[in-house]
Amino acid sequence: MTTNKEIQAGTKAVWAGEKEYLVHGATQVPVVLSVAYGYEDMDEWYDVAVGKKKGHIYGRNTNPTVQAFEDKIKILESAEAATSFSTGMAAISNTLSTFLLPGDRIVSIKDTYGGTNKIFTEFLPRQQIEVVLCETGNHEQIEEEVSKGCKILYLETPTNPTVKITDIERMAKAGHEAGALVIVDNTFATPMNQNPLLLGADLVIHSATKFLGGHADALGGVVCGSEELVEQIYHYREINGATMDPMAAYLLLRGMKTLHLRVRQQCENAMALAEYLQSKDMVEDVFYPGLATHTNHEVARKQMRDFGGMLSFAVKGGIDTVRDLLPKLQYVNRAANLGAVETTVGPARTTSHVECTPEERAAMGIPEGLIRVSCGIEETEDIIADFEQAFNYVESVLKV
Ligand SMILES: *Cc1c(COP(=O)(O)O)cnc(C)c1O
Repeated sequence: MTTNKEIQAGTKAVWAGEKEYLVHGATQVPVVLSVAYGYEDMDEWYDVAVGKKKGHIYGRNTNPTVQAFEDKIKILESAEAATSFSTGMAAISNTLSTFLLPGDRIVSIKDTYGGTNKIFTEFLPRQQIEVVLCETGNHEQIEEEVSKGCKILYLETPTNPTVKITDIERMAKAGHEAGALVIVDNTFATPMNQNPLLLGADLVIHSATKFLGGHADALGGVVCGSEELVEQIYHYREINGATMDPMAAYLLLRGMKTLHLRVRQQCENAMALAEYLQSKDMVEDVFYPGLATHTNHEVARKQMRDFGGMLSFAVKGGIDTVRDLLPKLQYVNRAANLGAVETTVGPARTTSHVECTPEERAAMGIPEGLIRVSCGIEETEDIIADFEQAFNYVESVLKV
């Protein structure tokens, strides 16, 4: 039976982008480790080299396993094209470097990923690029700054670690009125929950290291958008060399086949844990876009299909409570990554904002007792029970 109905994202995650790369009747995309590709026919070699004919020349430029990864994510983000990188940070820095020149102005928000923030505060200014960082979630301020003119409007939503939300559709409109390129880091939401290109953004970036791969065993980054924009970013990357490794591409491809299942469970766990944490006396604040108490809950509802696997909460007693509580959790990794199948926790002062002073963190609205949780795919009741026994321990210690 043929039907015009578009298949669902979960089915695409399993099947999309692979067929063209299967060989020998294999049902799985092969890992092609070859650095170079040979040609008998000199004219064919030339045609491939100048892009007149499809094919591969050298591994820094293209690789079949890496292309299968790019094709899958491109389809999941409803993009014309995608190009990949060795890490998420390489995707971000190469994309910015492709378009920014001395004298340009870029507008972004204060709460971007720590590495991105370093690019904004350390590396771009020394290239005479003006960086304006607005209060995250303050749409009026972003609109005002963008209307003064800028080359790029760079957003991330939800953000790290307090999961703040920015209205992509509204900001894309503001950006385009000012002639800016609108870029969104979609790492936290994943293409299952949010598609920035469909909301008007020009480019969407992922750290594939996180939810896309999902198993914390491969580094990668990717940017998706129009053929025209992605072609320019690809050219910058093929020359500058932050190419994705074929083995990483294979692991990321394999991870992505279960993306919808993992993210579904991660969202369910995050919502349940957020509600549980709200009921605890020891918890001062819970940050999760799925909670009605979240500042931009309505915007999140509008632009996200579900609210993601990331949340954070602040405990009474600050870092002392954090020191007692986190080691007691049994089914978590206490580590700096996120998006994996295992629940992962860490204090903001050790993970996302380790490079800031306590005063700087306080100014950013990040209490010393803030704990970031990346929910895994464990059974919900086990996660809640684990937090419950850890809280019980800390409460009993405090009573002594
Ligand atoms: C981790 C992360 C990055 C950087 O990705 P790497 O793969 O570690 O280089 C960028 N943005 C966000 C939101 C991230 O969580």
